[in-house]
Amino acid sequence: MWWKPLGSDSRVKLLVTYLSVSILAVILVAQFIAAAERPDEPKALAVVNSAVEETSAGISGIGVISAEPIDDASAMDPSREAAAGPELDDPAQTVSPGNASERRGLQKPSRSGASTMAPDRLDDTGSRYEAAAAARGDGHAGLQARDAGPTLDLAPAPQIVRSHVKRVGIQVGHWKAAELPAELATLRTATGAYGGGVTESQLNLDIAKRVASLLEAKGLNVDVLPATIPPGYQADAFVSLHADGNASGLRNGFKLARATSSAMPAKDDALLADVRDEYRAATRLRWDDNITSDMTGYYAFANRRLKHTIAPTTPAVILELGYLTSASDRLTLFGKPDAVAAGIARGILRFLGLGEE
Ligand SMILES: [Zn+2]
Repeated sequence: MWWKPLGSDSRVKLLVTYLSVSILAVILVAQFIAAAERPDEPKALAVVNSAVEETSAGISGIGVISAEPIDDASAMDPSREAAAGPELDDPAQTVSPGNASERRGLQKPSRSGASTMAPDRLDDTGSRYEAAAAARGDGHAGLQARDAGPTLDLAPAPQIVRSHVKRVGIQVGHWKAAELPAELATLRTATGAYGGGVTESQLNLDIAKRVASLLEAKGLNVDVLPATIPPGYQADAFVSLHADGNASGLRNGFKLARATSSAMPAKDDALLADVRDEYRAATRLRWDDNITSDMTGYYAFANRRLKHTIAPTTPAVILELGYLTSASDRLTLFGKPDAVAAGIARGILRFLGLGEE
């Protein structure tokens, strides 16, 4: 034993010293631990809390996607997600509130009014819009409807009525020519004839609107179309309105043509004859025989090489209303626009079997 050589006094002293040092050491260690723990406490707790938030946030996300009850307040509490801090940037977190609101909207509609979340309100507005559109007989409503509620009950009836209504396209020559597509870029600057202070597109638009009013009054669907034709445009009749110009001012009269490349020349010729006869009777303008290749090769008919054209199954003609550069033609075109429009409308109605005779 290592204490054997020492005397009893020395042993007692040593024991007292040893105990004193030990007690002091224990106190020092305890104080050190206490001192060391205190400043670290908030940090350590924050780390633990963060881990808890992350876990619970993950759980709430999963709960929304699974068939868990949606009225779990923790899944919807925005303050909780705010507390989670950076985790909000996680895509899963961004998605889950939307899902939750959708599901809640479906299962408990009475609560959606109290919600501050946008998707619920958008959904409600959308449904009302679809229902209103369906009530109007809007053809798009059936395709866009998101729920099978009132839409299916209301849509079919107007749809059946619409399918029997004839459609007529009246093109306003040169109107919005600057908006022509790339395949017709060379025609963007083709503004047409000019005379008596009026551009061709101004005259064409004025007459087209009058024709449209007359045909709509007969219950037809009418499209007043600009220079750009919707690709593959389908209608029961299509008439392109233009007016002529001539530098000498001596030429006058109107003329009509159909496409030389027509897929159904007989039908086009029937439309041409009906419009020609009614137009001549209404306006008393002279028939002009000088049909040009610009008319027979008109771009809106060229469905074999262009996209923005009528469909091959749309009966179509191009009508030169008269000469804007002719003072005598202007007396009719400017002075009797209703007669001009009536001639065109009667010709179309006759072709469609809706004439008054
Ligand atoms: Zn023209």
